Amino acid sequence: LPKTPLNKRIIKIIIVGDSTVGKTSLMNQYVIKRFSEVYRVTIGADYMAKNINIDGKLMTLQIWDKAGWECYFSEEAAFYSEADCCILVYDITSCKSFENLKSLKEKILSLRNDKTDVNFPFIVVGNKVDREDERKISSEIARQWCRENGNIPFYETSAKEYINIDNAFMMIARNVLMHA
Ligand code: GDP
Ligand code: MG
Repeated sequence: LPKTPLNKRIIKIIIVGDSTVGKTSLMNQYVIKRFSEVYRVTIGADYMAKNINIDGKLMTLQIWDKAGWECYFSEEAAFYSEADCCILVYDITSCKSFENLKSLKEKILSLRNDKTDVNFPFIVVGNKVDREDERKISSEIARQWCRENGNIPFYETSAKEYINIDNAFMMIARNVLMHA
């Protein structure tokens, strides 16, 4: 039997953000290197897993892209309580998706019953940077928001053009390890 490294860990990551910001696309690109222009509504909860090696530690990232999570919030406290990290995604061409980050973050913390846990790791991802001409949210504004809301790591990505995806997920893993 293959030997299981003792330091292997499963990290549960949840991706949240307004619909169409690119949550499913980010997950698909990161794990199976696939992108589709066609929008398909996610039904139920999708998850994908990917093994990564970070500083010699083998870890499994279990990425949850939960559909309709806005609606079923109250029943889902357990789901969120088990998460190790949360990715807050917005679309750089949508002001509304950016403005919603604050309430999303608060909702997650309240569901986890951790309003006081300043340590729960979030990362913020501004997706669709390939659409620079339609950009509404500058990097500076987003970076400042992240600083003011607990020094949250920040990445701008394109699921379409595979920009910064690996870096963002690597940061998540490091972030979780730091909080472990
Ligand atoms: P979700 O609702 O947050 O899961 O969003 P999806 O991943 O389903 O993406 C919604 C739409 O945006 C789809 O048509 C995708 O093809 C498109 N999309 C996702 N990511 C990007 C991106 O980085 N750039 C561009 N141009 N389109 C994207
Ligand atoms: Mg989706």
